[in-house]
Amino acid sequence: MFEQFDESSRRCIFWARYAANIEGGKEITVLHLLAGVRREAQWLFRETNLEKAKIKLTVVSDQAIEKLSAARRLAVEIPLGAGAKKALTSAAQISQKMEGSSVTPAHLLAGILHADSALRKKMQKAGLTEKELKKRLKAPSAKTSETTKPRVTRCGLGYDLHRLAEKRKLILGGVEVPFEKGPVGHSDGDVLSHAICDALLGASGMGDIGTHFPDSDPQWRGVSSLVFLRQVRQYLERRRWRIAHVDAVVITERPRLGPHFAAMRDTLAKALRISPHQINLKAKTNEGVDAIGRGEAIAAQALATIEN
Ligand code: MG
Repeated sequence: MFEQFDESSRRCIFWARYAANIEGGKEITVLHLLAGVRREAQWLFRETNLEKAKIKLTVVSDQAIEKLSAARRLAVEIPLGAGAKKALTSAAQISQKMEGSSVTPAHLLAGILHADSALRKKMQKAGLTEKELKKRLKAPSAKTSETTKPRVTRCGLGYDLHRLAEKRKLILGGVEVPFEKGPVGHSDGDVLSHAICDALLGASGMGDIGTHFPDSDPQWRGVSSLVFLRQVRQYLERRRWRIAHVDAVVITERPRLGPHFAAMRDTLAKALRISPHQINLKAKTNEGVDAIGRGEAIAAQALATIEN
C-alpha cells in the first residue's frame, strides 16, 4: 500500500507513529495522522485554515522527541487503528481518482477528512471542506505542485565583525554578557545574531543583512538584533522555508562564553521559532593574533541549513 505514498507522506506517517509513541498509545489514530501532517507539512495547515480549527493534537515537537527515551523510539511496531487505515486507504483512492502519480500530504489530509466525521465538522467550522480541499488538489496551481515537489535543502554562510569599545554592552545571541567592553555598531552590534541573519538570508537567496537593515536607516539605531532575526524568519516563512539547523562560532579572546550558551540558544530559538536543539554554538579565541587577539574586535561565523 505504501508504495504509492511519496517521501513526504511517508514522513507524515512516521511522525504519526512518533505521536502515538509520545502518548503511549496502542495504535495510530486519525488524530496522530493529522499531527504527523502538521509536523511534516506545516504550510498545508496554514493554507487550509486548519490552524484555526483548534484541534487538540499531540505535539510532535523536537522537544517531545528529545524527551522520548531511546527504548520507546524503537517501539515502532504500533499498528494503524481502523480510522487511520481508512484515512490512508481514502488518501490513496483520492490520489488515484485524480490520476496522481503518488499520494502527497495533501491527499493524506483529504483522506483524514473523509475518514473522520468529527474532525470534518471541526475543519468545516474553520472554513475547510472536503470539496474545497479536493478542488485544490485538482487545480494545477502552485499550491498543488508544492505538494508533489521534492524537498529542497540549502545552506547559507554568515560572517560578522564589530570593533569593541568601552561603555558598550556586550550583547551576543540576544543575551547581555557581563564584560568591560561591547561592540560598536548602529544596532546593538550583536555579531552572533548578525552572522545568523546573513546565513539564513544567504541560504534562501535573499541577499544580506545590510540590504534589508541598512545602517544608514535611523529606525535600526540601537535596536535589538533579535528584531532582525524575527524579520528574517518571517521572510523565510513567506517563502515556505523551514530552518533545519544553525551552527555558529563566536571568536573573541574574552570573556568566556560557554556559561551563556544555553541562554543564547533559548533566546535565538524563540526569535527563530525553532527548538534550541536546532542551534549549536561554539567559541574560539584568536590565539592573541590580530585585532580579535588584541581584544579590539569580536567576530562570529554561522552556517544555516534550511529546507522546504
Ligand atoms: Mg554587524
